[in-house]
Amino acid sequence: MRHSEYFIPTHKEIPSDAEIISHQLMLRAGMIRKLTSGVYTYLPTGLKAVRKAENIIREEMNRAGAIEVLMPAVQPGELWKESGRWDYYGRELLRFKDRHNRDACLGPTHEEVITDLVRKEIHSYKQMPINFYQIQTKFRDEIRPRFGIMRGREFIMKDAYSFDTDEEAADRSYRIMYEAYTRIFNRCGLKFRAVEADTGTIGGSSSHEFMVIAKTGEDQIITCSDCDYAANVEKAEVSPVMEPREVMENGMSLMEEVVTPGIKTVSEVTSFLKISPDQLIKTLIYKADDEVIAVLIRGDHELNEHKFQSFVGAGEIELAGPDLVFEITGAPTGFAGPQGLKIKIIADQSIRGMKNFVTGGNKKDLHLKNMNIGRDFTVDRFADLRLITSTDLCPKCGGKISFGRGIEVGHIFKLGTKYSQALNALFLDEHGKEKPVIMGCYGIGVSRIVAAAIEQNHDKDGIIFPIPISPFEVTILPLRVDEKIIIDTTERIYQELLDQKIDVLLDDRAERPGIKFKDADLLGTPVRLTIGPKGLKNGEVEIKLRSEPKSFTCPINDAATIIRKKITGLYDSLK
Ligand code: ATP
Ligand code: MG
Repeated sequence: MRHSEYFIPTHKEIPSDAEIISHQLMLRAGMIRKLTSGVYTYLPTGLKAVRKAENIIREEMNRAGAIEVLMPAVQPGELWKESGRWDYYGRELLRFKDRHNRDACLGPTHEEVITDLVRKEIHSYKQMPINFYQIQTKFRDEIRPRFGIMRGREFIMKDAYSFDTDEEAADRSYRIMYEAYTRIFNRCGLKFRAVEADTGTIGGSSSHEFMVIAKTGEDQIITCSDCDYAANVEKAEVSPVMEPREVMENGMSLMEEVVTPGIKTVSEVTSFLKISPDQLIKTLIYKADDEVIAVLIRGDHELNEHKFQSFVGAGEIELAGPDLVFEITGAPTGFAGPQGLKIKIIADQSIRGMKNFVTGGNKKDLHLKNMNIGRDFTVDRFADLRLITSTDLCPKCGGKISFGRGIEVGHIFKLGTKYSQALNALFLDEHGKEKPVIMGCYGIGVSRIVAAAIEQNHDKDGIIFPIPISPFEVTILPLRVDEKIIIDTTERIYQELLDQKIDVLLDDRAERPGIKFKDADLLGTPVRLTIGPKGLKNGEVEIKLRSEPKSFTCPINDAATIIRKKITGLYDSLK
């Protein structure tokens, strides 16, 4: 590609509305432009990077035996009503009506559409296993679109759906996708980790997220330094061995009321009463669908809402507002306690063995000291409900855990029969018995891969693209475009590289060298070939890898061969 005939509108200034580096660099390098909130146009280099990621995904999905299809972006509301998600999906689903007043939506995901296809086309065990995938534009009306294409409203996703006859086969399909994802993200040059993920209300036995390790990641993950356990904190179990389990009957002190005027928060109460936070129990009032539930958590712990939601099996949970808190406890927010409550009380397992603790008094400006489970109130159920902390040990091996952040680029999920049952996708097994097909779903944020790769690979001068998803593999940078010897040499090497199917950008602009160098660094092309008058006098050109600080020179005639070797080396390092 000749720069003079191409379109790479670069900028020096850091765009003021771009918070994270990948967003800034994609704008500055001329890869994307914003149309409206969370909606972007891919300019030529942005599109090239996305297409390269797509091709890797397509190759690996095909290799894993998945079959490519392309489903519609517009979906009938009817189908979503059948699956039950029309009411449940929330406002991320962009709904509208067509001219016949029929409900429709823009597809945020395609479980309904693919299950509709399968119920019409797959009727026998002989037609399975089968896995369909597509690479397609999704729309989700995200509450907080941000970070450019990292969290857009419109974005490109690869989504795959597997269909199997029994659990064992479904497990196999899941494993095949796990392995394909591992190859895909390795080939994209990403440093990532597969972590156990929350299966939410769908239940399902397992789910993994593929997390690109990055400080700016929106997800928090934990990893064990002694075993292979890694999990999203939303999911991370708390080892029960960390939690005291015995209730000590003896040693209960007399319960005492204490006036705590305007003292509400954990830190206010603990400093007022001169106790440590682990001697206090927070009583949180939640609405779980139509039920109101009290959740007890130790003062130094945080509730894990995902665990709570799964535990109570609610479609939606919400912390109660002041009115509901008053109705349930008779007190303003900040003074709730378990004593005398008429609603279900569930408690984190960590409070099972606590004694003589402090709770709210269900009256304005009142707390209660020396509270005890059994004597002063009862707990309906104990469960692991809290967020893991840095002092917890690995739930699998008891080893040391550490916290990090990740960008979710992929998600694989065992769906079971949720959709096949709702939409009647049935098949006949080898005994002629009718059964629902067993599904799995597997997503990759294709556009997000590019942003995540930049987040992980950049320096002060710009992007350092992993070669497989770099818009170009090589930039040729002639320092002058008005000297015949430079033009001739440049053209010769350019043609030679093109002949070898190398993806080259020739910066043939009549710009100052400084500008060309800056733009080349900004766009992050892995290999740069500089051709200048001084070097040519000695029969030499200069090669520099974007990932290495120093350049080196080589004879003109060897340049193409050396470049090819460097490129091969860069690809090989990702195998
Ligand atoms: P997130 O928690 O980031 O919102 P999700 O759990 O909603 O992700 P999935 O429904 O599993 O995501 O979608 C599959 C993949 O699509 C995700 O792993 C992610 O890489 C990508 N993705 C999801 N939402 C967006 C978005 N708003 N912009 C870009 N990519 C996205
Ligand atoms: Mg989401």
